Amino acid sequence: MTLPSHDELISRVDATFAGIGVTSRSGDLPSRTPITGGSLGAGGAVGDVDKTVAAAHEAFLAWRTTPAPVRGNLVRRLGELLREHKDDLGALVSIEAGKIRSEGLGEVQEMIDICDFAVGLSRQLHGLTIASERPGHRLMETWHPMGPCAVITAFNFPVAVWSWNAALALVAGDPVIWKPSDKTPLTAMACNALFQRAAADVGAPAALNQVLYGGADIGAALVAHPDVAIVSATGSTRMGRAVAPVVAGRFGRLILELGGNNAAIIAPTADLDLAVRGIAFSAVGTAGQRCTSLRRLIAHRSVRDELVDRLAAAYRSVPIGDPLADGTLVGPLIDAQAFANVASAIDAANQQGGELVVGGDRVLADAASDAYYVAPAIMSMPAQTDIVRTETFGPLLYVMTYDELDEAVSIHNDVPQGLASSIFTNDIREAERFMAANGSDCGIANVNIGPSGAEIGGAFGGEKETGGGRESGSDAWKSYMRRATNTVNYSRDLPLAQGVSFDI
Ligand code: NAD
Repeated sequence: MTLPSHDELISRVDATFAGIGVTSRSGDLPSRTPITGGSLGAGGAVGDVDKTVAAAHEAFLAWRTTPAPVRGNLVRRLGELLREHKDDLGALVSIEAGKIRSEGLGEVQEMIDICDFAVGLSRQLHGLTIASERPGHRLMETWHPMGPCAVITAFNFPVAVWSWNAALALVAGDPVIWKPSDKTPLTAMACNALFQRAAADVGAPAALNQVLYGGADIGAALVAHPDVAIVSATGSTRMGRAVAPVVAGRFGRLILELGGNNAAIIAPTADLDLAVRGIAFSAVGTAGQRCTSLRRLIAHRSVRDELVDRLAAAYRSVPIGDPLADGTLVGPLIDAQAFANVASAIDAANQQGGELVVGGDRVLADAASDAYYVAPAIMSMPAQTDIVRTETFGPLLYVMTYDELDEAVSIHNDVPQGLASSIFTNDIREAERFMAANGSDCGIANVNIGPSGAEIGGAFGGEKETGGGRESGSDAWKSYMRRATNTVNYSRDLPLAQGVSFDI
């Protein structure tokens, strides 16, 4: 497969910017495309953290008393604009992050979905009414906006993760300050342009979404700011380790979405046709650069050889190349460091007793270019060694063997991360055991689908070194609001709780 010319990509970016309404492809942060490794110009201006937080706080004072369903109108308009510009924004995601076309479009669809969800939510931010133990009293919960919400995002979901947070924060009444990955400034510019149009169309303050372009230093200053009520940070566990103590130290609200090391157990009764497809999508899709990508396969001894043979055949024929071209299933890694990480993990796995089954080579781009395509790799491992316990952000799948389900679950949970997991089985006892209290210890536990590709309707996030945060659907909105418990006395007496008497 041939790669597109760099000029073609530049023209495509210019066309998408023109469609979306971004006026300039210049700024402080250099942008490159992993498709050719060439420069796309630069995007975003490095902003002033104090001024940005002050403007967000100002916007908060008006937004917190705007009725939630009216706040929902802003998110509805954003969703409409995203529908209109899905094609352009999806292409930009492919060009700047390297995702194949359908995944770039899928990311924008996810933004549209969360906008729809948040609009409905804007009429359902309800609390409980609780039976009071005192006569003539009513006990209830009310939910209120908290203040500016910092949203720190990773390169691999350059637009969707912002929207998961922004859509919920905005209907919850919290202005957003977005610190996108410094590897994807152009997609952030495009999203902000659409947001600003939505805000102007419905008459909402422009400062409800501000973008702070820059690297870890800007992110660190934002996280430390005392007027940032909520920090929602998505990225590596290393980043989370730096951010968590700072936010905890000032008693801020923290939502962490960090690294994963996701596994699938393939049981003796598994439908192997289904398993091969589910494994391939989860392990090879997005070139293994999803937080939920499948990295560990724990296969029952009775099915292991057939499974690995079938997977190896699929891996050998998977179309790798230009992510914008029809038929491509694997695009580039984000950069040279990502390729070096995959190569050194393969070396380490070899030293730790592993054997390469397939893949691992750099393909397509010539050695002199700054584009990195890798043939997805499978390594057979005799046991779960240190390297298997480490998240390597690329298409590298370790295969291990088990005999009893208890052993499989124990291998499964014996890693520091706890994001996504799955089992392929047609035995209901095994499926239930996997999802039970003594089963998978992850935030996501699936049956007969791989660990990646979540819908927005469920709460998304994971345990242990994944950070414990929950975003997106279900009741994740509660993380963006403060809860007040209200007791109302409508009697003429003042009975005290727990029968305490205090007569004066
Ligand atoms: P990264 O940790 O290098 O960067 C993520 C973001 O954090 C960037 O915007 C970066 O500038 C910022 N940052 C880094 N150090 C910081 C600091 N000290 N203070 C504040 N901000 C800081 O991650 P990446 O390479 O962009 O993304 C890949 C990683 O993200 C993987 O580990 C992946 O599993 C994880 N990820 C997790 C989820 C999830 O939902 N759990 C989703 C996507 C990606």
